Amino acid sequence: MIGNQQPTGSLLSQAWATLLEQTAELVLLLDTADRVTVASAPARALFGAGAALVGQPVRALLGLAPGAPLVGSHVLPDGRNVSLCLNPLHDSAGRPLGALLRLPTRPDRPDADDHLDPRERQLREVTLTISSALEIDAILDRVVRLSIELFDADAGSLPLYDLEHDNLIPGHTVGIAGQLQLPPIRRGIGAVWELIDTGEPLLINDYPAHPRAIPVLLAQGVRAVVAVPVRAGNRTLGVLNLYSRRPGRRFSHRDLQLLETVARQAGVALENARLYQAALRDAERRAMIYRASLEFGAALAPAELYRAIHRATARLMPCDTCAIALLDEERAEIEYVYLVDGAGSWPVERVPVTRGLLGFICRTGISLRITSCDPEMEGWFGAEPFGEGEQPTGSLLAVALQVGGRAIGALSVQAMASHAYTVDDLDVLEMFAATAAIALQNALLFARVQQLATLDALTGVVNRRHFYELARQELERAVRYGHPLSLLMIDVDYFKQINDTYGHGVGDQVLQTLAQRFKHGLRENDLIGRYGGEEFLVLLPETIGDRALQVAERLSDLVRREPIATEEGPVAVSISIGIVSCACGRTVTIEPLIDHADRALYEAKRSGRNQIRIATSVGPVQVP
Ligand code: GH3
Ligand code: MG
Ligand code: MG
Repeated sequence: MIGNQQPTGSLLSQAWATLLEQTAELVLLLDTADRVTVASAPARALFGAGAALVGQPVRALLGLAPGAPLVGSHVLPDGRNVSLCLNPLHDSAGRPLGALLRLPTRPDRPDADDHLDPRERQLREVTLTISSALEIDAILDRVVRLSIELFDADAGSLPLYDLEHDNLIPGHTVGIAGQLQLPPIRRGIGAVWELIDTGEPLLINDYPAHPRAIPVLLAQGVRAVVAVPVRAGNRTLGVLNLYSRRPGRRFSHRDLQLLETVARQAGVALENARLYQAALRDAERRAMIYRASLEFGAALAPAELYRAIHRATARLMPCDTCAIALLDEERAEIEYVYLVDGAGSWPVERVPVTRGLLGFICRTGISLRITSCDPEMEGWFGAEPFGEGEQPTGSLLAVALQVGGRAIGALSVQAMASHAYTVDDLDVLEMFAATAAIALQNALLFARVQQLATLDALTGVVNRRHFYELARQELERAVRYGHPLSLLMIDVDYFKQINDTYGHGVGDQVLQTLAQRFKHGLRENDLIGRYGGEEFLVLLPETIGDRALQVAERLSDLVRREPIATEEGPVAVSISIGIVSCACGRTVTIEPLIDHADRALYEAKRSGRNQIRIATSVGPVQVP
C-alpha cells in the first residue's frame, strides 16, 4: 500500500543511496524510528553488509541503550573512536523524514586534543560544528559567527557569489550595525573582486587607504579586513570576510591561513548542504510526479486527464495558465485541447502546426524556458503564443509530450510574474511530461477505441448497441425525474430502388446526408442512432404528443425539401416515421418502445409511405 508519506521516504532513500555510494565516511540514513534505511559502503563493511543492516535499530547496532542520545564520542566494534553527528531531516513542509547519522573518526586517544594549541582546538570545534549543519543559511551563520569569535574580529560577512549574474549576494553579515544589507555587489565594487578573479586571499590592514574601500564599511569604522574564498572544487561559492575596527587589531598571516582552513570546511559543508537540498527536492518532486501519475491512471477520458495534468502541474510550480495541445500529423495541425487561465477555459482550437508556440515545440521537440516574455517574442513562433496579447505573460515553460521519442503534443505553463521558473522547474516539467504523455496516449487510444465501438462507421451517428445503452440511461432518468419522452423510428422509402438505380455507393451517400440532416434538425439533448440498414432511431427526452409530431414533421421536411446531391446527381428521397410517446414517470424498457414505434412505422408504410404515424392504441408498456 502506498500512502502519501511512503513515496517521499523511499524515494529519499533512493536519492541518498546514490549519494552515499560516493562517500568514504561512515554514514547511516535513519528513518523516523531511528532504524537504518541506507548505509554508506564503509558502514556496511563495518556493521555487516546487505539487507541485514537495513531496518536495524541504530542504538542496538552501536551498542547503546534504547533512547540513548545519538551525540558525543563513541567507540565502534573495531575499536575506532568516532563522534556521533546527527542531522534530523525534514521535507519542505517541515515533516520529519528521519535523520542522517555521520560517524567521523576522532583522534586515537580521547585526550589527543590536549596537544593542540588552544586555537587549533577551537578550530577543530569550529569545523565540526560547521559540518554538522545541512541548512545553507545555518552554515553561513555559523561560519561567520564562529570565525569572528575564533579570530577575535569585530564583524564578518559571507556574501555568496552568483556566477550567472556575476555579482555577490550580501547577507549573513554579523557585527556590523543595522545588519548592513547591500544590494547585490556588482563587479568592480570593493576589493573583493580581485579575490574572486585570482582565488588569492586578501589581507588588508589599512583598509581606509585601500583604493577600492567600500564607503559603507568605512562609515562603520572598518580598519582591517581579511578575506578568503569559499570554494567547492574550483567553483567559488562566496567570500568569507572578517573586519576589525580596533586600531590595535591587525590580522596576521597566520590568521589568514587558519581562516582558509575554516573556509575550506565551509565550502565542503555548503556543497553537502546543496547536494542534500537537491536530493531532498528531487525526492519530493519525484514523489509528486509519482502521485500525479497515480491520479492519471484513474483518468481515462482525455478531458478528465487534461484537468488532472493541470492540477498536478499547479502543485509542482507556479501555473497561472496551463495549455495542452495535441499534434495531428496527418493534417499538419495542432489542436489546443485544453487552455485554462484566470479567466476560465478557452474553446478548443485547431491551428496549423507552423503557427504558435506549441506548434513550434511539437515540430522541434525543444523545451523552452522564457523568464521574461515580451510581446515582440510573439513574432518568434507565429501568432499569439502568450494568450490574447492584451496582457503578455511574464514567464513560460513549454515542453513536448513525447512517447517513444515522438511528439504527440505539447504542454505549457505560464506565470504572470517574470522569472517565475528555474532551470530545475523545466527539468521537472520534462520529467512530468514524460509520464503525462504516456497517460495521454492511453486515454486518446481508449477514446478512439470507444468511438469505434460506439459510432456507426458510415453515418457517424451512434450504432444500435450504443443507442440502446444511452437510451436505457435516458429512460432511467425519465422515470426518476418523472419526465416524458418519445421515440421515433425512421425508415427511408423505397431505398432498395435507390440502390438498384444508382448503385450501392450512392445509397451510402444518401444515408450519410440523411444522418446529417437529421442531426441538423434535432436538439443537443436528442439522441439519434442507426438501427440498421436504412432505419434510424431518435429519442426525444422531455418531448411528447404534438411536440414529438412537430419534430417528426421537421425531419420529414428536411429530407423532402431538397433532393440529396450524389455523384450520380440529385436524388429525391422521402421517409416514413413511427412515433411512440411515453407518459411521465412510467417504468418502461427500450425494447417494447421500439416495438410500438415499429408498428406505427408499419402503419405509415401501409398508408402509402412519406407519412408519420403515432402509436396510439398501445400505451407505453409497464414492466413489472
Ligand atoms: P420501404 O419503403 O418499404 O422501406 O422499401 P425499402 O426499399 O426502403 O425497404 P427494403 O427493406 O426492401 O430495402 C432496404 C434496403 O436497404 C435493402 C438493403 O440492401 C439496403 N441497405 C441496407 N443497408 C445499407 C447500406 O448500408 N448501404 C446501402 N447502400 N444500402 C443498404
Ligand atoms: Mg427498412
Ligand atoms: Mg425502407
